[in-house]
Parts: sequence; C-alpha cells; structure tokens
Amino acid sequence: MGLLNRNPKDPGGGRPSGADQMKLAQQMQAQAMQMQAQFGNVAQQAQSMQAQAMQQAAALQQAAQSSGAEVGSGNWVRAVLAILAPPQPGFVKRCSCAVCGAPKKLPTVTAYVYCDYCASLMDYDLRRACEGDKAPGPEYAATVNAAQAASRAAVQAGDRDSYRDLQKRVFEAYVTHVPSAVSHRARNDQAYRHAYVAFMAEAAVARAFDPAAQALDAEMKQRVMGLRYGGNMMSPTVDPASFWPVVDVLERQVESARGLYRSARLGDLDPDGGEHLTGKLAWSGFCQGWLGMLPPDAAARLLDRAGLTNEYVPVQQEGGQSRHCGGCGGQFSALPGAQAIICEGCGRKVDLGSAEIGCASCGATMTLPAGADDVACPFCQARVERSGMR
Ligand SMILES: [Zn+2]
Ligand SMILES: [Zn+2]
Ligand SMILES: [Zn+2]
Repeated sequence: MGLLNRNPKDPGGGRPSGADQMKLAQQMQAQAMQMQAQFGNVAQQAQSMQAQAMQQAAALQQAAQSSGAEVGSGNWVRAVLAILAPPQPGFVKRCSCAVCGAPKKLPTVTAYVYCDYCASLMDYDLRRACEGDKAPGPEYAATVNAAQAASRAAVQAGDRDSYRDLQKRVFEAYVTHVPSAVSHRARNDQAYRHAYVAFMAEAAVARAFDPAAQALDAEMKQRVMGLRYGGNMMSPTVDPASFWPVVDVLERQVESARGLYRSARLGDLDPDGGEHLTGKLAWSGFCQGWLGMLPPDAAARLLDRAGLTNEYVPVQQEGGQSRHCGGCGGQFSALPGAQAIICEGCGRKVDLGSAEIGCASCGATMTLPAGADDVACPFCQARVERSGMR
C-alpha cells in the first residue's frame, strides 16, 4: 500500500480539472491494481477475500482523500447506507440459524450475526459493516508490505510453512489493527482469536498454492486494469460497463474458494463454523469496496446479483430472561430454551445452560463465559466461582 503515501502536493495541483480528473483516474487504477494484487495473494477463501475487499475500499477512499478532496469515509458510508435501505432502531437482520434452525430475534451491534440460542454464526450484515467501516491504519499497511516479498518468494519456492507463518503475522496485525472488520469474538476470547488467525492463514496457503485460483487472480488484475473511472475529485465513480467483467471474475473466484474450502477441509479450522457463509462474506466485502462508487441503479443491481438485498424484522425479546455477562457486566436477554449466546458487548461466548451466579462481595449476579470456572466480577473485581453457587 505504498501508493497511499503519495504526496498530495506533487506537480499538477494547479492544472485544470480535466487533468486532475485524469490523474485521479490513473491513481485510482493503480490503487485498484495494487489492492487486487493483494486480494489475489491473500484471498484464500471467503473471509480473507472479504478482508482484502475491505482493504481495497479503504485504499480507494484514501486515494480520494489524498487527492485533496473532501471525500471522507462519511460521504462514502452515507452513499452505501442509502442504497442498503436503512432499518429503524429495533430491527434486526432477517435470517435463521443453519445449525439449530432458530430465527434471529435479538438486536445486534456488529456485522457478525450470532444465533440467540446456540451462538453459531448465522449471517453477515452488510449494512452494519458499512456503519462500522474504518480505514486500516499505517501499522497494518506496514505489516502487509513487510510480508509481501517474502510471501512471493515462499510461493515460488513451494515453501508452504514459511508462507503460512508470514500470513499468520499479517492476519494477527489485521485482527489487532482493523478490529471493526473482524468478529467481536476476537476482542476478548484469546482461543477464538488464535483459531481465527490460524484458519485465515491456512486458507491463504490453500489459495496461494492452487494454480486455478492463481489464474483467476491474474484475470482479476486484468479486469481491474480495464476499469474506467469518472466523476470528480469529490465523488469518483466507476463506469458500470467496465465494472461487470470484474464482477464476473469475482463470481468465479467465489466458486473456486468454495471448492478449495472443502478440499482443504478448512471448515474444521473455522472457529465460527461459517462454511455456509463463504460466498456471502466474499460478496459482502466486495460490495463494501465498490458500492459507493457505482451509480444507484448499478449499485442496486450489484446487491441483487450478490444476493445481499437486506431485509430486517423487528427485534423480539418477549419471554426473555434478563441476565448479565460475567465477562463485561453487560445486560442481555436469554430467550427460553437458549443454550449459549455471544455477548454483543465483549464478544465472549456465554453459557446459558447454568443459572446466574451471585458475587459474594457486591451481590451482583452474572452468567459465566462458556468454559470458565471463575471470573473477576466485572462490577467489583472479586473472584466469582462457578462452584460458589452450590
Ligand atoms: Zn442456532
Ligand atoms: Zn460481555
Ligand atoms: Zn462483585
């Protein structure tokens, strides 16, 4: 992402707007090329494709910003949110659990939608994702840049182990520096975080050493080179006629990723068991990257083709029992029959199979995280033990 360090005061600042526009177009194209190259290198399956597409979006926004324009992520986010038919407060994405079949009922805070009954990952909410979009900082860019040459060398040498180690470093930096792009489970659950990084790295290995996936990446780079940019400094746009060939390649990349995911048995490594969401995550990341640069009719068509036309239903908390998370103290609603839930406040998996436990020191009651025998009371820090309830 070295191109992001471009000096905005370089020659040409005083040229007529036509030249500025040309320069912007060239710059956008260079950005897109570079991001697509990374997209190819790292995008070993859906979630990493998503990560890359989000980086791409961030790079394009930064390109526009460094051109001296006021194209903040604010404008861009507003454009995307307008397309995605914003829900009113008190609504949640319509979806049902692939594991237990339950419909989603309780409110969500991030893009990652977890089951209210069994804590499985159910869906990915593009609208929430766009709300929380933040450009990756320089620390992440530095890690990616530092790993690039060595990653290429490892692929050429057929050295999977070195490649895996490099990718682990990249994804560790991703989880640390771009937390809004990753599930909230990664915030406090170290076992989840570790498994997620390992999973992403293994997916990266699967793709980097697959000739068909590499051929698709090369094709993607070519298509991105063919993109035509328009609009102005304030709101750069991409010409839909030049854009659809990119979408065609993405469609094939998603299919390729699905096959790789299965043959490399990556589903066994995925801490969210999200194999059924492979395509959705890839399309979501791609849409996050490009929606804001498309005219409204083309944007609507992209969402339709991606199967991401969002629908929302009212939150249903009826019959829920009020509980508090033993990890963060946050209040949540446990629906009748629920076994586990991911806390929207801290991302810990909370075990609903056991009753609330009282703190002997401050009297607060709480539900312990799954697998934990004790916690530091989130209200007074006193030790609260599972056995203390007996
Ligand atoms: Zn479920
Ligand atoms: Zn919590
Ligand atoms: Zn306490």
